[in-house]
Amino acid sequence: MNRAQTKHKTMEIPFHRPYITEDEISEVLDTVRSGWLTMGPRTVRFENEFSAYTGASHSVAVSSGTAALHLALRAAGLGAGDEVIVPAMTFTATAEVVCYFGGRPVLVDVERETGNMSVEAAARAVTPKTRAIIPVHYGGQPCDMDGVMSLARSRNLRVIEDAAHSLPASFGGKQVGAIGDMTCFSFYATKPLAAGEGGMVTTENEEWADRIRVLRLHGISKDAWKRYSRGGSWFYEVVEPGYKYNMTDIQAALALAQLAKLNAMTARRQEICERYSDAIISSPGLSTTALVPGRETSYHLFPLLVDPGAHTIDRARFIEELSARGIGTSVHFIPLHMHPFYRNEFGYSPGDFPGAEWLYERIVSLPVYPGMSDEEVDYVSECVTDVSRKFSR
Ligand SMILES: *Cc1c(COP(=O)(O)O)cnc(C)c1O
Repeated sequence: MNRAQTKHKTMEIPFHRPYITEDEISEVLDTVRSGWLTMGPRTVRFENEFSAYTGASHSVAVSSGTAALHLALRAAGLGAGDEVIVPAMTFTATAEVVCYFGGRPVLVDVERETGNMSVEAAARAVTPKTRAIIPVHYGGQPCDMDGVMSLARSRNLRVIEDAAHSLPASFGGKQVGAIGDMTCFSFYATKPLAAGEGGMVTTENEEWADRIRVLRLHGISKDAWKRYSRGGSWFYEVVEPGYKYNMTDIQAALALAQLAKLNAMTARRQEICERYSDAIISSPGLSTTALVPGRETSYHLFPLLVDPGAHTIDRARFIEELSARGIGTSVHFIPLHMHPFYRNEFGYSPGDFPGAEWLYERIVSLPVYPGMSDEEVDYVSECVTDVSRKFSR
């Protein structure tokens, strides 16, 4: 495929570009100039502002979304042999944290319409060993949290939400971050709020929040980071073996600047996704996941669904055609049961989760980020519909 073959001029549109402006740059410079580089006053400010934003009672900042999930499971008391329900359609982090404990991630299928965990499938997967459910809000749109919470309450399970995609998002008017027992966010470079790396656990339970604060910094009793501050004390006590999972103030500086404009960034993501939806509506071989009434999404992803029956090429080739036109895309996700580790270790195999596989055959995540111009969005839309038309059956 040669770029000159397309009827439009070729643009270079990466899958992601962070939305960094002078706000982030000056906040980071102030932090560096302040002399306090690692966890300190800015991390605390970010936690407070995050609680105010999500309505959560407690927010504990950590080094990544994966660290957030790990510590949430520790606080929930997960142990060897315990089972945790995880949708098959997610990133490996959601399930790998269960393996840290010698636990078993019990994969369940997702709904084709939304990519979210099927609550019926989760209910069928509960055994006497099940301790927790980790629903993933696919692409930013919350799962059926009424269904998840009532299943969990009836079987005495903890709900730890993987909200890596869903900031901000809400279910039935309730903000994600203040619904489940604990909610885990990621501030990885490509996520809706980007600090390069970073994560957050929110919860209403003070005991869990305190435990996570201790665990994130070597198991040292409360507020260990203050020991080098003016008026801080040299004395500390280690109460258990913890981790080096703290956030740094440089990350918090980026995150604070991003949080201040999160609503505007989300509004722009929504415009981009709606522009894509409008553009593909007249292409019979193209569609996207459904938005369910009563749920507000962060518009983190725009999952384009390429119908294999309507095209002479498969999804992989569709991606190559877009790449030849200068467009970066991604696939969210390769279902976990198709990876060698989950197959070999837990006996899963292709064919186990038809909903996840149906999506996997079709999905292409298109670029969605606040800094995209209308011209760029329209270029992507035109290329997508052109490729679909060119290779239609
Ligand atoms: C990104 C992501 C994570 C992990 O977050 P990190 O901050 O990269 O550790 C977990 N779950 C999902 C669904 C993700 O997309």
